Amino acid sequence: MSRNLELFERGKKSIPGGVNSPVRAFGSVGGTPRFVKKANGPYFWDADDKQYIDYIGSWGPAILGHAHPEVVAAVQKAAEGGLSFGAPTEVEIDIAEEICKLVPSIEQVRLVSSGTEATMSAIRLARGFTKRDAIIKFEGCYHGHSDSLLVKAGSGLLTFGNPSSGGVPADFTRHTLVLEYNNVEQLQRTFDEIGHTIACVILEPIAGNMNLIKPSEAFVKALRALTEQHGTVLIYDEVMTGFRVALGCAQSLHGIKPDLTTLGKVVGGGMPLAAFGGRADIMACIAPLGNVYQAGTLSGNPVAVAAGLTTLKLIQQPDFHAELSRRTARLVEGIVAAARELGVTLCGDSVGGMFGLYFCEEIPSTFAEVTASDRERFNRFFHAMLAESVYLAPSAYEAGFVSIAHSDEIIEQSIAAARRALATL
Ligand code: PMP
Repeated sequence: MSRNLELFERGKKSIPGGVNSPVRAFGSVGGTPRFVKKANGPYFWDADDKQYIDYIGSWGPAILGHAHPEVVAAVQKAAEGGLSFGAPTEVEIDIAEEICKLVPSIEQVRLVSSGTEATMSAIRLARGFTKRDAIIKFEGCYHGHSDSLLVKAGSGLLTFGNPSSGGVPADFTRHTLVLEYNNVEQLQRTFDEIGHTIACVILEPIAGNMNLIKPSEAFVKALRALTEQHGTVLIYDEVMTGFRVALGCAQSLHGIKPDLTTLGKVVGGGMPLAAFGGRADIMACIAPLGNVYQAGTLSGNPVAVAAGLTTLKLIQQPDFHAELSRRTARLVEGIVAAARELGVTLCGDSVGGMFGLYFCEEIPSTFAEVTASDRERFNRFFHAMLAESVYLAPSAYEAGFVSIAHSDEIIEQSIAAARRALATL
């Protein structure tokens, strides 16, 4: 029996489903999850010592590749000085200043330990600031697992959402309106009717939780104009896109200044660190300055900050994002060209170090279009790639991630592997 399977069976006895986050269980694609033994650069090794080219990179954080020596050294040095203090440190100010420098819309920032905490806190803050309850999110976007965000659309345009998870009282999602991504007309109509009651709109500025979906320019412009007009806080959830699609995050590509931004993944360089920040007048509403409560025993943890700060410094090397974008675009172009030659219906898209592959005719722009793609075919492709030692996200609805450690040679190897995998479909 494979050691991965052995561990999966053993894990299921003490851990629900054998995993600590559901998508890791391969529920959508079937088969046995790979248990990671170690990772380095673009590779990881599973429990059977098989080496894979990794296009998940811990779901985004590993933008420098795994175990970058400078990040590891910074973490080791920080750990020697103590793991956690529950008192302020200078390095927290260092990383806050770095974040404010790189993302000009962020005038002040607070550190937390996960993306879920960042978005949950940003929404509470927006509600406290506006003294309104209702919030808007978009179908197919994921913002972590806090109660008011585990919601699916109601039955009518202006009916508020229903829980999408057990354990979430309907009362908690009653204030969350779910609208369609990229639907300007619906957004306009909603703001015309109830704009004055909306505390905030939370957006994945480039969606990565329904495969990769880009917003139209008209959509992001309308969103900024309408929220400004109605005194609604615009939250860019850049947990995934932050520092990955561009040094200035997705907002720099859109030319949009959101009121609040949430960060995670890259900002922590692989350690549990996330952040939310934005306009100083809004941030002033947080305790101890204001009456919106938010706190954390491990917030601003010195070891996590060391990893994050070192990562933020390294991604500021000249042309880092241009190079990352070029390699990611080449990967997608190579795989799509191979599919075309083989007569397989496939298209792809990328931005910075994020990419999407879709088994359908045209690049989708809404959740409904993504879910209409050929999921069964994706699953077969996923397993064929796994057999080729290339590890993609185990779901047709997740974006992929490239790191700067994915050299041109590795990208070409991956394209060749994809060509062989596509030929088996
Ligand atoms: N927001 C976005 C856009 C995300 O992609 C994620 C996680 N994938 C989260 C929030 C939640 O972050 P975490 O898993 O760190 O709680």
